[in-house]
Amino acid sequence: MSITAPAGALVLRPGKERSLARRHPWVYPGAIARVEGSPGSGDLVAVLGADRRWLAWAAYSPDSGIRARCWSFREADRIDGAWLAGRVSEAVARRAHLREHTDAVRLVFGEADGLPGLVADRYGGQIVVQLQAAGVEKQREVLLDALCESGGCRDLFDRSDSALRAREGLAAASGVLRGAEPPAQVEVREHGITYLVDVRRGHKTGMYIDQRDNRALLARRVERFRALHGRAPRVLNCFCYTGGFSLSAVRAGALVAVSVDSSADALATGERQAQANALPASAFAWRCSDVFDELKELHAAGERFDFIVLDPPKFASSHQQVERAARAYKDVNLRALRLLDEGGELLTFSCSGAIDPDLFQKIVAGAIIDSGTDCLLRGRLGAGEDHAMRMTHPEGEYLKGLLLERL
Ligand code: SAH
Repeated sequence: MSITAPAGALVLRPGKERSLARRHPWVYPGAIARVEGSPGSGDLVAVLGADRRWLAWAAYSPDSGIRARCWSFREADRIDGAWLAGRVSEAVARRAHLREHTDAVRLVFGEADGLPGLVADRYGGQIVVQLQAAGVEKQREVLLDALCESGGCRDLFDRSDSALRAREGLAAASGVLRGAEPPAQVEVREHGITYLVDVRRGHKTGMYIDQRDNRALLARRVERFRALHGRAPRVLNCFCYTGGFSLSAVRAGALVAVSVDSSADALATGERQAQANALPASAFAWRCSDVFDELKELHAAGERFDFIVLDPPKFASSHQQVERAARAYKDVNLRALRLLDEGGELLTFSCSGAIDPDLFQKIVAGAIIDSGTDCLLRGRLGAGEDHAMRMTHPEGEYLKGLLLERL
């Protein structure tokens, strides 16, 4: 079923049209003066200013803290099946060139691609989707068909099981949507490395695709280190998940990669991936433990590393948690810096949307000062281009990182 005509209108309070005039795609409950008609969850509505001027076409989410998400800021657009399929095929085409490096690609990234709440990742011939807002949920059949067609895949799996669904008043859902059951592990290649992705139970849709460029960057830095210092570096990968950074480092010639995560399953997959890539088991140490404790123990044991990767989970999932999260980021960076050899490099990340890049930089600078070390900022890091942010929707930028060299 596709949308034919708007089911109603949201009339905004005076002054509340400003963010929409800047094409920010979210309408908060406090901005709405009244709802006209009786739109249901996910229905198409017109968003009107207090003066009834047309502002946007949006999907209504009556149960969400984001009461409507805009499809389009062009009044002439008809938000029907063809329009939605067009957004999907544009999104897929935008990523086509990434095939050269990988077959694990984010095909659709929500607001950035004009499809608020829809995430679709391709792992080889398997597409995994997350429908995280009422609008895309309502249009799911059209969107899923379009994804199969544009993505050239028959197999589509649903991982709409994140907490975001509950915020939209939608039940969690997971399972086959089109085609066959996915295998226990979908094999993909990224920059020449084989990854084994569990699309049913893995984190997010199975893999941290967003770190692709940073995994490749670490490989280049390891090669540079070897050329510069004439020896193979020691790497510590904290919050390693299935060890993507570790595989990249060892393949590039690291002496050893110590990989720490609290998930035994993730580490077991990491070990299998190392085998699948015919990398020597002796170059890997997999440690199932809490990173904060492990860093303390490594310090007590006098261990030192040439590269450290810190890629923690989202410490702040809302603005209320920023202060506590900031302390955790500072603490973990401080502990890592103490283990980093002079001339070594730290790749440190935050995927908390509530912590902006400026604040993250200040937190890490605080950790540097308190650790008594000195560092150069060699580069700013972020998610790969298939996770692009739309400039009118800064909330889309969540992953940020710093490449630091210890002096
Ligand atoms: N760097 C990874 C992604 C990291 S996601 C990659 O590129 O694939 C964050 C990881 O941190 C998850 O695997 C989670 O299991 C782990 N984790 C969360 N809290 C932890 C803690 N306190 N100690 C160790 N691992 C933790």
